[in-house]
Amino acid sequence: MIDPASGRDQKADVLVRDGLVAAVGAGLESPGAEVFDADGLVVAPGFIDMHVHLREPGFEHAETIETGSRAAAAGGFTSVCPMPNTSPVNDNPTVTSYIVERASRHALVNVFPVGSITKDSAGEALAQIGSMKKAGVVAVSDDGRPVMNARVMRRALETARAFGLPLIQHCEDLNLSAGGDMHEGLESTRLGLRGIPACAEEIIVARDLLLAEYTGAQYHVAHISTRRSIEMVARAKALGLPVTCEATPHNMSLADDDMPPYDSDYKMKPPLRSREEVAAVVDAIAAGVVDAIASDHAPHAGSEKMQEYERCPFGIIGLETALGVALETLYHSGRISLPRLVELFTLGPARILKLDRGRLAPGVPGDVTIFDPDLVWTYDLDRSFSKSRNTPWGGKTFRGGPVATIVDGAVVWRRQ
Ligand SMILES: [Zn+2]
Repeated sequence: MIDPASGRDQKADVLVRDGLVAAVGAGLESPGAEVFDADGLVVAPGFIDMHVHLREPGFEHAETIETGSRAAAAGGFTSVCPMPNTSPVNDNPTVTSYIVERASRHALVNVFPVGSITKDSAGEALAQIGSMKKAGVVAVSDDGRPVMNARVMRRALETARAFGLPLIQHCEDLNLSAGGDMHEGLESTRLGLRGIPACAEEIIVARDLLLAEYTGAQYHVAHISTRRSIEMVARAKALGLPVTCEATPHNMSLADDDMPPYDSDYKMKPPLRSREEVAAVVDAIAAGVVDAIASDHAPHAGSEKMQEYERCPFGIIGLETALGVALETLYHSGRISLPRLVELFTLGPARILKLDRGRLAPGVPGDVTIFDPDLVWTYDLDRSFSKSRNTPWGGKTFRGGPVATIVDGAVVWRRQ
């Protein structure tokens, strides 16, 4: 059992009763209880993915709360946070309540929605942040887009702070990135594709950190992907600001030159960067600058991805492969320990979102992820629970992956 919050890394039992962790320790007895024999496996707090797209309401042809939650369970996640770029956008408590209600009926895992920062995520008028918090949002973000206007961003940070919500920014200067399809560099030149320079991300990070310091708000950089962004976040943390960031499996493991020419399963935002930037993301995870791993699971229907590269939408699915990629890139490479890896999937995101989850202690919800760091398995896309197939990892064989997912004491997924 590995529980980063208590520092435990030992052989132990976890007893869950009435949906809550009842006890943790060696040799626990509970007559009549269902027993899960996890001998030789790692038992961890339930994994939390703080950045996913479930596409409901509005884009149910690509994913639904139900199918996305099944993919989450099959990836070892017990909680997911869907971003608000649905149709309609989750910018008011009616949409938030709809998502919470659908999730309570159809989702296999916990769903904690993220509300938008601005109305329709258009970057102008603020969304109904206070009433969305009452309806259940755990953070605000206009993900898919940044808040471009600094005045609006200042007001957003002040408002998020007043309601005790973290603000998650998709950092991309839209004027600099306009028309870009991949990272700007040698590869984009070679392929003749228009580039998105690293500084399109860094300029927004830099501006936002100044505003975060000015307002004292809790600020989180989504899918961080460049060395300079990381350096700025590290500096803000050293100043004691409540600033955090997440890294995605793809931006820590794949570079722009890994993309087979014009393969839209490698097209996402931020784009796959140069090898140096990828190394910087891994270094930042090892150095403790990164607080969470988030998949940015972004399903798109086959018809949308089956177009010429420039017309394809950005994003890949990632819930089912996040742990496999992270284990390979971070743990089997010797860069971080298993407890640190578990922390990035559990306590890290729980702290940012102020969820009383991500640890195994009496009284917390009985969410448990069981995984095998050495299990050899192949990602068979035909058996994916997601409705979409856009991923660079179809058919890939991984070392390490989830074995069972337990939500509120119930086994919701188990590897066959
Ligand atoms: Zn984003």
